[in-house]
Formats: sequence, C-alpha cells, structure tokens
Amino acid sequence: MRTAIGIDVGGTKIKAVCASEKGEVLKRVAELTPSNNVNEKLVSILKGLVSPDVTGICFGVAGVIDRKRGVVLESPNIPGINNMPIKEIFEKEFSLPVIVENDANAYAYGEKWVGTGKGFENFVAITLGTGLGSGLIYKGRLFQGAMEAGHMVVEPHGRFCTCGSFGCLESYVSGRAVVDRAVTLLEEGANSMLREYQNGNFYKITPEVIYKSAFDGDTLSRDIFREAGTYLGIGIANLINLFSPEAVILGGGLIGAWDLFIEELKTEVSKRALEPLAENVEILKTTFYEDGGSIGAAGLVFHLAGEK
Ligand SMILES: [Zn+2]
Repeated sequence: MRTAIGIDVGGTKIKAVCASEKGEVLKRVAELTPSNNVNEKLVSILKGLVSPDVTGICFGVAGVIDRKRGVVLESPNIPGINNMPIKEIFEKEFSLPVIVENDANAYAYGEKWVGTGKGFENFVAITLGTGLGSGLIYKGRLFQGAMEAGHMVVEPHGRFCTCGSFGCLESYVSGRAVVDRAVTLLEEGANSMLREYQNGNFYKITPEVIYKSAFDGDTLSRDIFREAGTYLGIGIANLINLFSPEAVILGGGLIGAWDLFIEELKTEVSKRALEPLAENVEILKTTFYEDGGSIGAAGLVFHLAGEK
C-alpha cells in the first residue's frame, strides 16, 4: 500500500502523520517544537515514520515558501527554520521526494481531501492558532500562492502586527491577539475572572484559559471573543467578495471558541459581503481535531505527484 508522510511544523508543536492514499491515518506523532536544533528533531520524528511504503514527505510550515527550492523564506514563529534548505536536506537524508508548503495551505488541502471541504470545489479555509492562516481551494485544487489573509488590513491605524504592518486581521483574530487583548485590558484595571489566574500572574494566560472563562460567564473574556468575531467577519466578507467561495471553513486550536464568536462573525458578513455572494456561502466548523495540517500535507504528496 502506498503511503505518504505529512508533517506540520508549528511554533509550539510538530505534528506528523503517515497516511494512506484514501486519507486514513496509519501512524501519528506529536512533539513539542524545540527552540533550537529543529532539524535534528524532524529527522528523529521522520525516522519513526518512514517505511518502504512511503512515497514522499510534505512539510507544512507557517511562513512564506519558495516551493521550487523547498525553502521557508520567512517564518515568524519558527526562526530556526528560516532559509533552511528543507527539500535538499531531507531528500538526501531519506532518498524520497520532499515538498515544502505553507501550513495553512496544507490544512486547506486536508479539508478538501478528507474533511469538511470534500463536497466543495471552491472554498477558503482559515486556521485559528497562534496566528491566523488561510488557504484557498479553487476548482478543486490548492491555490499555491501566499494566501496570507492573516495580513489583510482590517483597521488602517490598528494594532501593530508581527509582520511589521498595522491593523492586520491576525492582530485581532488569533491566539496571540486574544491574549494580548486580555493582558492589555487587565493592565488597565478591567474586572475579570482572569485576574485570579495563576495568583494574579495574568501574563501567563493562554487563549484556552480565556475561552474557558468566557464559557464560565466572564464578561471581559466574552467581549474579547465577540470583538474577534467582528473582525473575523470583516476579513471573511473581504474574502467572499474576492473569491465567491461556496464555503468558508474554520479550524485550528481556537475552534473550541466557535460559539463565542460565530454570531458577530455572521452579522458582519451579512452587513459587508455582496448580498448574492453572502447568501450562497456556508460558514462551517472543521471536523478535524488537531491533525488537519499534517493530513493535508500527506494528501499533497499524492495530489502533486499526480499532477506532474
Ligand atoms: Zn501582519
């Protein structure tokens, strides 16, 4: 049986799967991303997954990708991987074809291959993690461009973004954004359950803590997610006006907060997207728990091999 390895290299975790051509996951591994020697960690994970059935390896990495050379040109969350010749190193190490793709693009392909996007030919997938990633499936195929919707400006004089610009969608809607917002409001003296977190050390708050407090009724936490929903709605309205997708699929580590932002998101979409386009788009929640990016990367090994 032909298999492929997909490896999602994130700022916090490295998640890898070995999958069949039908998209069944045969093996999975998840480990924390080390602060240095990422390369060695990747080799040891891959050694545990490689077998004679494996036909190729695809890396999904956050950042701008040079696909031809298989290099990540700029990865804000994993500086250790910047300019590393991934394709060259791993093709030599494992004698297998290696593909390097953006992590959110790989995730979008995962949705198309075996996820919520299976029945659609045109959709945008958005992944809410530490940052905000996005990918586009157009006419059933992955658009292999930047598709960095996280750096779409939604507020011209808005918050500073890690990319160097101001008012990017990611500065309002991402794990990092909700934590920054909570810390700022707490520093200003806002009243919240979050204040008691870790004996008052609210600098250690995580996005999960904020959405759990919101579900427990904390007003400040609820407001933070409502505001994120409004901005995400603005971003999605722009994407709908550009691409007229059949669906927008949302996933990633923050998707558990869906009920906290979806109402504001949909209100904003109906206010801002062109009516005939907004009426025909479905906004859907992923069914992947954590593996969407790595499964999609494995799928790209089969998909791109078929296109050559
Ligand atoms: Zn930005």
